[in-house]
Amino acid sequence: MTQYPPLKLYNTESRALENVYPSDGEVVRIYTCGPTVYNYAHIGNFRTYVFEDLLRRTIKFFGMKVCQVMNLTDVDDKTIKGAIERKVTLGEYTAPFKEAFFEDLKLLGIEPVEAYPQAIDYIPSMIELIQTLMEKGIAYRGQDGSIYFSIQKFPSYGRLSHLRLDELKIGASERISDEYDKENAADFVLWKSYDSERDGEIYWDSPFGLGRPGWHIECSAMALKILGPNIDIHAGGVDNIFPHHENEIAQSECCLSERFARIWVHAEHLVVDHKKMSKSAGNFYTLRDLLQRGYTGRQVRLALLSTHYRSQLNFTFQGLDATGSSLERLGDFIVRLESISDKNNYGRTQELLKQAEEKFISSLAEDLNISASLGSLFDLVRALHSLMDEKQVGQVEASEALEFLRRIDRVLGFLFTDIVEETPFELQELLAKRNEARADKNWPLADECRQLILERGYIIEDSPQGSRLKKVAKL
Ligand SMILES: [Zn+2]
Repeated sequence: MTQYPPLKLYNTESRALENVYPSDGEVVRIYTCGPTVYNYAHIGNFRTYVFEDLLRRTIKFFGMKVCQVMNLTDVDDKTIKGAIERKVTLGEYTAPFKEAFFEDLKLLGIEPVEAYPQAIDYIPSMIELIQTLMEKGIAYRGQDGSIYFSIQKFPSYGRLSHLRLDELKIGASERISDEYDKENAADFVLWKSYDSERDGEIYWDSPFGLGRPGWHIECSAMALKILGPNIDIHAGGVDNIFPHHENEIAQSECCLSERFARIWVHAEHLVVDHKKMSKSAGNFYTLRDLLQRGYTGRQVRLALLSTHYRSQLNFTFQGLDATGSSLERLGDFIVRLESISDKNNYGRTQELLKQAEEKFISSLAEDLNISASLGSLFDLVRALHSLMDEKQVGQVEASEALEFLRRIDRVLGFLFTDIVEETPFELQELLAKRNEARADKNWPLADECRQLILERGYIIEDSPQGSRLKKVAKL
């Protein structure tokens, strides 16, 4: 039985490593800020989502249950502007981007989360929160008719981003824009009053008049409605820390008399060739751009995954090519293990597997040190190749090694993929032929079929439910 140490994460708020556990004793509740669906998400966005997927998978790997929410921001300045420009409804404008987002998640091997609330469905909850803030005298109506949050009324404003309110020259003006930086902290908007020029036909009715919610209140409303207070982990990119997450804390905790979220985790930026990614610099990439250049989702996943989430990730095409070679190597390794039919036991594999597993787990436990975890995998690959060169690995030992790879792939998500529906027809036929041969106890024929399947980069997994093909990590 493998011993699991406590899983620790760096909390942006306390600036310390803290243990992950379900505060309700059952499920670790996670809220992750999702995409604004006005365009295709870019690889910088996906760096954060891949990190959050690693976090989710690791928590499950450590034996805990997870309930994760990722919102889709479909009501905001950008989506409304886009819909008005194209002369379509907000729903019509955002639908293809929502669909594309889910396709991209799948290609990157990102596990589906438990809920994907869309802001458009939670407007009543947002209005409720704003009403509470009005009743408590924390929110007020500005001169333009919009409703603002008075940050002076929340003494711990700034505690996440570690800014001190009394040291700031807080802009007297209220802020209608959802995005701004620390130097410009000011009362922020909760409800934007309707502006026919800006909003066209897109508005909602509320006790504060026609208008629409600000971006920050959207996340508070969806998080509280679905997960409740005291969320175990709230995650996002570093650019969310201020003002978005700071504002989420302020609004939520003024409505609740409890803490909003316990651990705040943030993924660092992605840069391309050490430069900020931007359309104007010509170094802006969506996942689609990379697929068009012939890269695979798994390659991109590995590239986005392999740098620790709190370090800046420097994305380069050289690096992406290197992930291709790594996947090839891993694929070759799996195929080599699969091909072993030596019935002897040599007694040298188990110790290597034990070491690799211990290092893999202890590295993840320390704030998801994935680079070290991957290091332990590549060390194992090298050591077992040498043992196989010496003909010191038997079939049972090889299958133990494969079992280990399957286990850690619950975290990594790029070694094996289920793509049964994409499996070439002739391989499905070969599998059927092999199963028939096995039923007839025609072992040589069964083995021959298995070898042919293996040569094409697929392995057979037999289970009581039947047998299926799995593609190994090779490209
Ligand atoms: Zn958010």
